[in-house]
This record gives sequence, structure tokens and C-alpha cells, in this order.
Amino acid sequence: MKKVIFISITLILFSCSSLLKRGGIIFTFDDQYVKSWVANRDLFKKYDVKATFFISRPQLLDSGQVRDLKILQSDGNEIGCHGVNHLNAMEFAGPAVKYYKEEVEPAISKLNVLGFRIVSFAYPFGPAPDSVDSYLLKHVKYLRKATWNRNNTTIDTYDNIYARPDSFHIVNSMGIDCNYSITVENLQAGISRAQKNNEILVLHAHLLDTSGLAYTTNPAFLEQVFKLCKKDKIRSYRMEDMEDFFSQHKLKDSR
Ligand SMILES: [Zn+2]
Repeated sequence: MKKVIFISITLILFSCSSLLKRGGIIFTFDDQYVKSWVANRDLFKKYDVKATFFISRPQLLDSGQVRDLKILQSDGNEIGCHGVNHLNAMEFAGPAVKYYKEEVEPAISKLNVLGFRIVSFAYPFGPAPDSVDSYLLKHVKYLRKATWNRNNTTIDTYDNIYARPDSFHIVNSMGIDCNYSITVENLQAGISRAQKNNEILVLHAHLLDTSGLAYTTNPAFLEQVFKLCKKDKIRSYRMEDMEDFFSQHKLKDSR
């Protein structure tokens, strides 16, 4: 009898964890809009969303911004690196080691000194040559690139914005700022794919405000997206969670 109860509980727990593990979503935010991010921390908390904030030019952060970043970190968010001078790796003259030494290493060092452990880097402007990817992966665990809805289609058609068990150390992300005109219905298509395939959909945005200007995301729109995640029971992850996510996924598949 005891054994039956034990097995039943194990099965219930296992099916619950399987449900929770069905796909995921990563919200990332770029540059230095720390004030706007921390101003919306209650929104993140309300929907239990954890995100990764990629900081550019950390040497220019003032003490208030550093304090706010620590608040975001203590809320469970990840702080990532986005370069010391926000330089495009595709336009950078010189080998990968030079890009690392001049653009990446000084930014990570500065963030370390400020108290942030860095495992993720997001390329300024999005793209990078393969040689830079390979070099940087010796120094950080995760690289995030960036794209937008350039094909004007549903976002489930962009394979590279989904992290998968065989490719998650380098991921692309879909821009959701208002100038990219991604609708909630379109995001629904993206979330459905992630759940169906047990992948992680990666998104990026910048400043959170209501101006409607390019590279801003209205907090009301973000809330609609968070609501959608809640409705579909898709969990948010940070970039740094991907290895754990996919190793548990593998474990589950091998049972
Ligand atoms: Zn940027």
C-alpha cells in the first residue's frame, strides 16, 4: 500500500513538472534603460516573470543605476553584458580576440567589479561572425543575437529565435519594441510553437515607456504578453537557466 502511494505521488509530481517544463520564454532587455526597468518591477513580479537585462557601457553607470540594477538582480533577474562601447561585431576591424579584448572583456570586468557575475553576452546591433562566436564562447556561456520580423510573417517561422536542446549557447531573439509591430496574436503563434516543441522562445526589447517612439515597449503591451504567458502556463527563464532547462528536458526524455 505504502509503495502504491509513493509511486502515485511520484507520478503526480512528475507529471506536474512535465507540465511546467513544456517550453519556455526568455525576455531580454538591452542597453541602459535601468530606470524604466526598475520602475516596472511590480509588473514583472505580478506575473512572476524573470528576465535578463543586458547592460551596455557599464563604465558610465551612475550610483543610482547600479543600485537599481542590484534591485533587479535581487528580484531574481539576470544581469548580462552588452559591450563596453556598444560596437557592432560585424563592422569591427580585426580578429575575434581583438573584439573580445576591446569590447567584451572590459565590460565584463567592470560589471564584475560592480558585483555582477556575468555568463551571458548580447551582441550590440545583433549579428556577429562565427569566428567571434567561437572565441567569445570560451569566456561566456551564452551569446544572444537579435533580429526583427523582417519577413513580416508569424514568428513561429524563425527557427533561430528558439533555443533547443542541441543549440542554446548561441540564440537569436525577436525584437518586440513597438517599431517591430509584433502583435499579441503573433506572439501567441511563437509561444504555441515553443510549447509544442519544448523550445525556449527568446525576445528582446529596450526602453519601457508609453512614448510610442522607436525602440520603446509600452508597459501595457508587455503586460498583455505576460498575461498571455500566464494563460498558456509558459514559464519565463533567464538566459543563464538554459543549460538546466535542457538537461532536465534530456533527463525526462531518457526515462
Ligand atoms: Zn543595444
